[in-house]
Amino acid sequence: MPACQRCATARAALKRPKTGESVCKACFYLAFETEIHETITNNHLFSRGEKVAIGASGGKDSTVLAHVLHLLNQRYDYGLDLVLLSVDEGITGYRDDSLATVQRNQVQYGLPLKIVSYGDLYGWTMDEIVKQVGLKNNCTFCGVFRRQALDRGAVLLGVDHIVTGHNADDIAETVLMNILRGDFARLQRCTAILNNNDGTIKRSKPFKYTYEKEIVMYAYFKNLDYFSTECIYAPQAYRGYARTFLKDLEAIRPSAILDIIHSGEAFAAPSDSPSDKTTPTRGEKPAQRDAGECERCGYMSSQRVCKACVLLEGLNRGLPQLGIGKTDRLRRRHNLHEATSPETLGRTIEHMANVRLEAASARAWPSAAASPPPPPPAAGVDVGEPSAALSTHSASAAAAVTARGVGGTDDGPRLASRGALMEL
Ligand SMILES: [Zn+2]
Ligand SMILES: [Zn+2]
Repeated sequence: MPACQRCATARAALKRPKTGESVCKACFYLAFETEIHETITNNHLFSRGEKVAIGASGGKDSTVLAHVLHLLNQRYDYGLDLVLLSVDEGITGYRDDSLATVQRNQVQYGLPLKIVSYGDLYGWTMDEIVKQVGLKNNCTFCGVFRRQALDRGAVLLGVDHIVTGHNADDIAETVLMNILRGDFARLQRCTAILNNNDGTIKRSKPFKYTYEKEIVMYAYFKNLDYFSTECIYAPQAYRGYARTFLKDLEAIRPSAILDIIHSGEAFAAPSDSPSDKTTPTRGEKPAQRDAGECERCGYMSSQRVCKACVLLEGLNRGLPQLGIGKTDRLRRRHNLHEATSPETLGRTIEHMANVRLEAASARAWPSAAASPPPPPPAAGVDVGEPSAALSTHSASAAAAVTARGVGGTDDGPRLASRGALMEL
């Protein structure tokens, strides 16, 4: 190996996938960490004093994210209070093993850990859901439930902000998928690095410009403890094609990943797109949405019943198609109304009881109106308003809420049918 192209003293130990530079390990670590620090400061992701939950799955992305944020928080004195937040979907042989990894990370990084489970929150594990709905739409359930579960865990922890380990490859794939589907509203959401405007807890993606291959290298050279099996219930055929295509492009031209993200940003930038009236023009405040509550579970929702409760009703009635795709006809056939009496809903009642208990022991769901003013900026941390007021990237009740709350149309279920696509 030749000399490192950065320090010119040590021998190069690797070739950076992102830039093609031959560098020594020390220079790779520093470049990798510094680029993430710059993404954080350039995009004003954090404020001093913020309590930040790292969405931790035990996989490589979130493990490296926990490691790097812990390190940068000390190195640059961000003044963040970091915690780990994990969701136990109830997938035997997958999530139980990966959660064991998170338990070890908790000790390794000295960060508190909170685990919320689908079984406790919804009365259904993913193993049970897949038994009922099969492998076709299970990612829709998982995406909607996970988003709400993370928010609930965050409320229980008193957290201001959730960071997730979505990397540049994930985002480029999602950009491709949304372009191929002509979904410009979702394209805007998936390219946003920060989502802070829909009445839900603030979310961000510090690895937006970080290459997956470099995350793997970093974890490998640093000997980080992570779990490396794909979810056993996620066939994700469409994403698979996008991923293969992206990897082929990357092999020919490594900058393809960043180029696609930049294309996504450029497509998303014009805000007069007729396909998404919810996006404010640059510098304009986002339209105030009615951050109401689901009448069944109390979760923030501008619909009367939140997406998770609609899906749960389908499960509990043995009609899992409810809430997936076009359900109007199904509802009519079974004489269902959106506000079906909860007395008839069996496990939904338990679900509600769980949530009410939670609500009693935690503070109320945050809403745009109720959230406290941000703490004042302090030296050393670049603080500012998020530049783009874009909504969430991930499969969520919030997505349906956004479309419906503003447009007034009843297209929540249509949006939800793309749940798997939303899950970055
Ligand atoms: Zn070097
Ligand atoms: Zn609900």
